[in-house]
Parts: sequence; structure tokens; C-alpha cells
Amino acid sequence: MTIRTRFAPSPTGYLHVGGIRTALFAFLVARQAGGQFILRLEDTDKKREVPGSAEHLIASLKSLGLHYDEGPDIGGPFAPYKQSERLEIYRQWAQKLIDAGRAYADPYTADEIQAFRDQATAHKQAFLYRHYRPDNPPAWDGTQPLRFKTEPKAYHYHDEVMGDITTNSEVVDDFILIKSDGYPTYNFSHIVDDAEMQVTHVIRGQEFISSMPNYLALYDALGLTHPVFAHMPHILNEQGNKKLGKRDGAKDVLDYIRDGYLPETLDSFIATMGWNDGTEQEVFTMDELITKFSLDRVQRSGARFDEKRLLWMNGQFIRELPLDDLINRVEYFWPESAKKHPEDYKRSVLALAQDRLKTLKDLPMLTNYFFEDPAPQPQLILDNKQLKKLSADEINNLLELVKTSFEACDDWQAGALQICLNRLLEQTGQSPAVLFSLVRIVTTWAPFSPQLNDTLSLLGRERTLDRLAFRL
Ligand code: GLU
Repeated sequence: MTIRTRFAPSPTGYLHVGGIRTALFAFLVARQAGGQFILRLEDTDKKREVPGSAEHLIASLKSLGLHYDEGPDIGGPFAPYKQSERLEIYRQWAQKLIDAGRAYADPYTADEIQAFRDQATAHKQAFLYRHYRPDNPPAWDGTQPLRFKTEPKAYHYHDEVMGDITTNSEVVDDFILIKSDGYPTYNFSHIVDDAEMQVTHVIRGQEFISSMPNYLALYDALGLTHPVFAHMPHILNEQGNKKLGKRDGAKDVLDYIRDGYLPETLDSFIATMGWNDGTEQEVFTMDELITKFSLDRVQRSGARFDEKRLLWMNGQFIRELPLDDLINRVEYFWPESAKKHPEDYKRSVLALAQDRLKTLKDLPMLTNYFFEDPAPQPQLILDNKQLKKLSADEINNLLELVKTSFEACDDWQAGALQICLNRLLEQTGQSPAVLFSLVRIVTTWAPFSPQLNDTLSLLGRERTLDRLAFRL
């Protein structure tokens, strides 16, 4: 059997991390088995649709390397992959249910249904539509909602993540298959499409578990064997005490990319929110994820969204990238001042900064002083834990000594500069924490910089000596 999975988002907004995780897991299950991963747009709720969001989510999937084999923009054997273009298919399946006496037109107005609901509440009962099922419903003419005529029973089923689940017949109801606007409900259309598109694994959020008895009843009525189910637990906020919401700082994935996060970081980070391979490993390449991922190792409880871990992981991925690869990825992140400098100089700067980059967006902050003379910020000296113990005169005398001593250094290679720096420690009797911090600050005026000797070597003799002329 060929494994076929799908990601079936509704184009109702941006793609949040929970949605991306569902897509990633569905992608991994398909790739691992040499099967197919499908994108299906579930655009049947016209009131909730947000213009542009379909294009946006396609761009998000592509930016993370989650390439699908069939989808609305590329077609495939079961096209169309956009539900609003499949209305005739749903009507045909609905007709099968009508013919079998398993679907009927709902004759009630919204007010009448509300009255039933109030009645049930007054009797302290849960409202079930089927208790008010009309005896002689009118023929369905497409203007009334079409409802499923359920035959309630208890269900047992297995969920690859949540385990074995049992439900009772009380939760099965006559739900709407096709709305009065002619569009199917999600409850109906996803079952039709998964069957038509030969989907073998339904991987989606846990909010659908409560509707599973209704879905199982519909699979029965349609004579379908149901696919494998895997419901993903919620993603929780950083404290782990509630569902991750927009206010918890989790951004759109495309914003993370714009902010200098690598796609491979996002894939690894998102996969390890609620999944591990049974070891301590936290950082996985896409190839490793494809080999190692398994649904039965997805944890049942909610996974925490920890942005500090994301930042740490991004630094790990950046550090591991070959320079040739990194140089292409930072193209849009160089500071303005870098533009007029030769490529091989920029490459040397990048090689030095690579280890310190947490996001690609850190590049200007970490490298600007290699391209233009930074404005002195004496506050960096005054706030420095070691340097603030010295008076302005002491600082100025030290700088004078350093400058004179460096003037005597002709070899400006990093190795030779380290010898000069060590000699200076002896001459001044200062600790590296004092001396090297001072030299680092006045030559870069940046909060961090790479190894001092490497930095000075790349800055060059003239620029270093010029900057060492600073006095407090
Ligand atoms: N359209 C549903 C949603 O966006 C899809 C759920 C599913 O994967 O079946 O939540």
C-alpha cells in the first residue's frame, strides 16, 4: 500500500506553528515511506476566508522545504485540490446517502433549532439534533441544510498518538453535510476527499478528536474503511500553562525566515516540539527527521513553545553551515556599509562572525565595524565591569601604550598579533580582561566581536592604529 498523507489547511489566516507542525509530520510520514504528500485547500467556509492566505501558506510550506506531490497549484491525479472547486463531487456523495435513506433535508429555521436547544437546557440535557429529527422531511432542494441521519453506536478506535479510544453512542448526532449556501461542511468534505484522494493517514490537530464518533459513523454509512488517525496535541505557551496564542510571541513562519532563522532550524525546532527519537538529540537535519520520525513517539501532552531554544538551535545550524552556503544565505542581511566592499573581504568577515551569529539578522550588529568606522561609544568603557574601576587617565595611558607597542608590530597576521597582545600584557601588568576588553571596545565599538587577534588582523594595521588613537 502506498502511504498518502495530506495537509488540509483552511485559508483563514497565516500559518501558525501548530499548523506547520501538522504539515511537517504529514510530510515526514509520506517521505519516510516513499509515499505522497498532498496539499488540499479547505476553502468551504466563505465567511472566514482571508484573501491572500492561500498563497501565503503555499509560500510558507515551500520556504520550509515541505514540497508536496499534489496540490492546487501543481495539480495531480485527483485534481482539483481546492474544495470550492469540488462541489459537484460532494453533491454526488450526498446523493448516495439520500438514496440510502441516510441523509435528509433540515426543515427548521434557526429560531426553531434555538428553541429545541433551550428546551434541552431547561431539562438539563445535552442538545442532540437527532432527538428532534423531523418525521417527514421535505425533499432536499439544495436550499435547506442536508443532514446526516445517524445510527448512533459506541466506537473503539486507535489513534497513533493518543492511543486506544472508546466513545459512547450519546455523542453521535445528525450533523450537517451540506449547508444552505451549497458548500459542504468540513465534517463531510474531508471524509469524501480523503476517500477520493486515497489518503491513508489523517494527521491533524487534537481539536478534531471530539468529532471522531460522528466521522466514524459517516465512514460506516458510506461503506468506507477509515484511514489511520493521528491527532496532534496542542502547542503550549512558554510557561506550559495554556494553548499557544498569537499574543505569546509566536510569529508567522515567513516572519521567522525574514528575521534570519534558517528553514532547517524551523523544521528541527518544530519537529522536536512534542517529538523525540528516544535519545537526548535535539537538533536534526531534514534527512535525519525523515529517517527517524515516528508518530508513536509523538507525546500525548502539549508541547511547549520555547523561543530561547529556537534561537539557540538557529545558532547551532548557522555554525554548521559551509561558508559557501552561508554566504549565499546572508545576501540580504549585510549592513549597508558592506555593499561597496569586495566579495572576498566580506567572505573573510563572515568567516569570523559565523560562530557568533544567532540569526542572520545579527550580521550588521556583528560586522558593521569591518566596513566603516563606528562612532565611539564611551559608555561601553564606562559600563564595563573591569574597565570602570580605572580612571580616565589610566585608560588613556593604557591606550597610548597599546598604540605605541602596536606601531612596532609589522607583521599583521593573527598569529603575530597574538604575540604582540601577550607582550602587552607583560608590559602593562594588566589582566586580559582589562587590556583585551579595552582594545576590543575601541577598535569595534560593538558589544561583541570575534577573537581579538583575528578581528585586528582583518581590520588591518592602519585602521587599528587609527582607532587606538581614541582618548576618553
Ligand atoms: N481544514 C481543517 C483545518 O484547517 C483541516 C483539518 C484536517 O487536517 O483534517 O483545521
